Amino acid sequence: MTAETAETAETAEAERDADANPPVRRTGDWDGDRLAALADEHDTPLYVQDLDRTRENCERLRSAFPDADVRYAVKAHTGRAVLETVREAGLDAECASAGELDRALAAGFDGDRLHYTAVNPPARDLDYVVDVAEREPDLTITAGAVDTLDRLAERGYDGRLCLRVNPGVGAGHHAKVTTGSAPKFGVPYDRATRVAREAAARFDVVGVHAHAGSGIDPDQLDSHRELVSRMGDLARDLIDPDPAVADPLDLEYVDVGGGFGVPYREDDEPLDLPAVADATREAVGDLSGLALAIEPGRYVVADAGVLLTRVNTVKPTPEETVVGVDAGMTDLLRPAMYDAYHPIRNLGGAADEPAPADREATSVTVAGPICETGDTLCRDRALSRPARGDLLAVGVAGAYGYEMANQYNSRPRPAEVALTDGEATVVRRRERLADLTTVEEAPEVGR
Ligand SMILES: *Cc1c(COP(=O)(O)O)cnc(C)c1O
Repeated sequence: MTAETAETAETAEAERDADANPPVRRTGDWDGDRLAALADEHDTPLYVQDLDRTRENCERLRSAFPDADVRYAVKAHTGRAVLETVREAGLDAECASAGELDRALAAGFDGDRLHYTAVNPPARDLDYVVDVAEREPDLTITAGAVDTLDRLAERGYDGRLCLRVNPGVGAGHHAKVTTGSAPKFGVPYDRATRVAREAAARFDVVGVHAHAGSGIDPDQLDSHRELVSRMGDLARDLIDPDPAVADPLDLEYVDVGGGFGVPYREDDEPLDLPAVADATREAVGDLSGLALAIEPGRYVVADAGVLLTRVNTVKPTPEETVVGVDAGMTDLLRPAMYDAYHPIRNLGGAADEPAPADREATSVTVAGPICETGDTLCRDRALSRPARGDLLAVGVAGAYGYEMANQYNSRPRPAEVALTDGEATVVRRRERLADLTTVEEAPEVGR
């Protein structure tokens, strides 16, 4: 093969890969008939998580970052089926609580693939994690406060430790998820070297870590680059210090966190992952054998999930048309909490109505059944005029969707089905009213 034909073959292969594993799955790409059948069978509100797409997202990450350790931030979606899929796809698990660690263990992650990131950890969580670490000594604990290091040492922990650093730069799609510059997370950058060196007397210090908050997107690559380059400098300072000043630390990795953005809006460009990978490698600089680690959460699961909800009330008012649906902020909190945009597609189904494609676009507010003004899934959004009985697909709902679902207003949480190889399986049953009171004890008072 000549160089030129080899190149052509390579390009053709890259194009085939892009076809087989596109950088984004849009809400419009889902098979609407299939979703409608699932809603008929399992009722609404219903989460649908496509495990095949979840796996594709893992594969794209691994091929863009072939030499990096890829750790899935499990808080984005902790369902058992997702954890198993991610484990099989070769990612590690990054856990932010005892509960997440427990679930990752149950899903079969070995100790050397488990990372626990302590954020103001409750004593109960530390007790649990130190206990697990005795059985699984390859587990790594990431801590971001000297106080936390003391609390670990008090419990007899002297194992693998990674220092979380506040790099002083933050990215993020909303102030509530910008963590890189929030003092809550990590040791201040200018103290990190000293804290890491002191920690090495008590623990096996294996890495340094920073997470800039969520939302690395095409416009924010500069702050990502800055964070990464600061972390590279810090690591070099630790592994190769001025011999007059300190002994070198035997680090294994530099973890630059997650926050890989996904295109929520239909016209948002997908992240150019290979470009982000190039920028990351360039910014981190020469790591002299240290591994680079990343911790994507949202990116793994977001476009692999949709929330299906049924229209139950349509109310034209002088101000706007309010479309009432059976899913609300208890099922999908992100719009209420972050003003997050989720695409919404009308899949139709209302009696005596034409297919949604044949209806005029109408500006509507889609509101849930919760007694809160903020309980809307969108405002002033042009949808194919919704009618009572229609099914709506709320897209890009696989990350921080079910995870943030709650029982406010005494609402049982929705069901979830997982799709794999075209098969649908109920992976979380719909909660029943009786589930709302399972933890209540009979009160003494008033009896
Ligand atoms: C939440 C979190 C992540 C993942 O963030 P995404 O935006 O979902 O990629 C990674 N690392 C840490 C420490 C986190 O807290």
